[in-house]
Amino acid sequence: MFSYQCEQTAKGEGCTKVGVCGKQPDVAALQDLLVYALRGVALYAVEGQKIGVRSEEINRFTCKALFSTLTNVNFDPERFTGLIQQTVAFREQLKEKVSSAGGRTDFDTAPAQFRPGAPVEEMVKQGEGVGLKSDPDVDPDILALQHTLLFGIKGVSAYADHAQILGKTDDKVYDFLYEALIAPLNKTLSLDDWVTMALRCGEINLRAMELLDAGNTETYGHPTPTKVPLGAKKGKAILVSGHDLKDLEAVLKQSQRKGICIYTHGEMLPAHGYPELKKYDHFYGHYGTAWQNQAKEFAQFPGAILMTTNCLQRPGKIYADHIFTTGCVGWPDVPHIADGDFAPVIEKALALPGFTKDTNGKEVMCGFGRNAVLGVANKVIEAVKSGAIRHFFLVAGCDGAKPGRNYYTEFVEKAPKDAVVLTLACGKFRFFDKDLGDIGGIPRLLDIGQCNDAYSAIQIAVALANAFGVGVNELPLSMILSWYEQKACAILLTLLHLGIQNIRLGPSLPAFITPNVLDVLIKNFNIMPISTPDEDLKAILG
Ligand code: SF4
Repeated sequence: MFSYQCEQTAKGEGCTKVGVCGKQPDVAALQDLLVYALRGVALYAVEGQKIGVRSEEINRFTCKALFSTLTNVNFDPERFTGLIQQTVAFREQLKEKVSSAGGRTDFDTAPAQFRPGAPVEEMVKQGEGVGLKSDPDVDPDILALQHTLLFGIKGVSAYADHAQILGKTDDKVYDFLYEALIAPLNKTLSLDDWVTMALRCGEINLRAMELLDAGNTETYGHPTPTKVPLGAKKGKAILVSGHDLKDLEAVLKQSQRKGICIYTHGEMLPAHGYPELKKYDHFYGHYGTAWQNQAKEFAQFPGAILMTTNCLQRPGKIYADHIFTTGCVGWPDVPHIADGDFAPVIEKALALPGFTKDTNGKEVMCGFGRNAVLGVANKVIEAVKSGAIRHFFLVAGCDGAKPGRNYYTEFVEKAPKDAVVLTLACGKFRFFDKDLGDIGGIPRLLDIGQCNDAYSAIQIAVALANAFGVGVNELPLSMILSWYEQKACAILLTLLHLGIQNIRLGPSLPAFITPNVLDVLIKNFNIMPISTPDEDLKAILG
């Protein structure tokens, strides 16, 4: 196997024997084969676009299939063999439709002809032949950009999947996914063409995130500042992790009046800020921190656990019999709920002891989405003009297990008292319960939400830039980003598409970026690796 799509990749180079994430070589091969098979669907989808042939069902499937290959999403080989077979069935269906409508179908490229082998070992062998490094003739810099694009569209597909679940779609997003999937089949594209494709991926990701923002806010209302208890309430309990608000809503609805309290874990924390979710009396509080601590935290949780989207790790023995997956997530032998009926989760919660007593804990604030922040824009602008607020730091991105991630906690602790820290995604869990005080009533620590809410952060930055009559790069705002997986790749491409300069990125740079590609990024965007909190604060603030 060879995989280097996430930040924790082995030795900072690539996982070759087994994934640091727990991905086994057979699953790695099946994921590569799935992407390969999707290129076949994409060939006909792109032809179909030209003659008005589209399939919403296949578009949605393509997003789900790509999302399944993200880091920490699906580890179940059986699910992948099913996805590969379905991909080929959809390819043939689309080919037929395109042919009937008079479109071109005479592709002789291999993904258009691919037939999955049987049994599964055969499929695994096929997958081993089509991995990330299977074509030795591709120029290393072009390969780096091809992989940047591939990991970027995996991120886009995750956001598009979340959005479509809430009824928001745009053909433009699907069209680009297909265009990007077949791009490597075109051997004439230059380095500049690939840079352009990568930046277009950022543009499309902005649209996907806009759709998701509309889906979330139109369905559940705009988040409002909300106190969330970190303690526990005596009684039965369900812990919901991941990102999918609709799954959380379904659990809240189905568990009403059963004496069960619902807790969030990881990226689900910002759900407490949504009016249509916090109206449920039994939606109690938040338990634990970020995804990489789940083995310890889930083992101590006395109720049922549901993983709604990515960030699943190998379930520990202690909780393997009371964790469930739904959506694109999967682990062999872990019960999977595919139909939105969470009765098994509720039954399990009722059978488990739950919390035996009330436990007092700290409280944290969430719910500072674009509507809440821009609702006090005048106050913020005044504070900047008067010098009360000197600088904003967007400390955003994913958390992870590497020790270098202490940088972000230290950075926030050392930020001067006249600086406001905006947070986004699970990197905040290293410091989310710190009391940083306020500046004239404006809290110094403002959580915008999940990684899925990056659109909200961008809107806040753009609105502030407009209010000051400057560009985003001229604002007293610095972006200190931590990346982990492919959604972060897509967001980074969006920021580059928007022309954002001077991003500090850590804890390490992507293994798939070559020195020449890094040079392009530095020349055009002045992107830079994090150094130490002291050095970076000095460089930013002088
Ligand atoms: S997803 Fe990350 S940790 Fe898992 S196999 Fe790939 S590079 Fe390794």
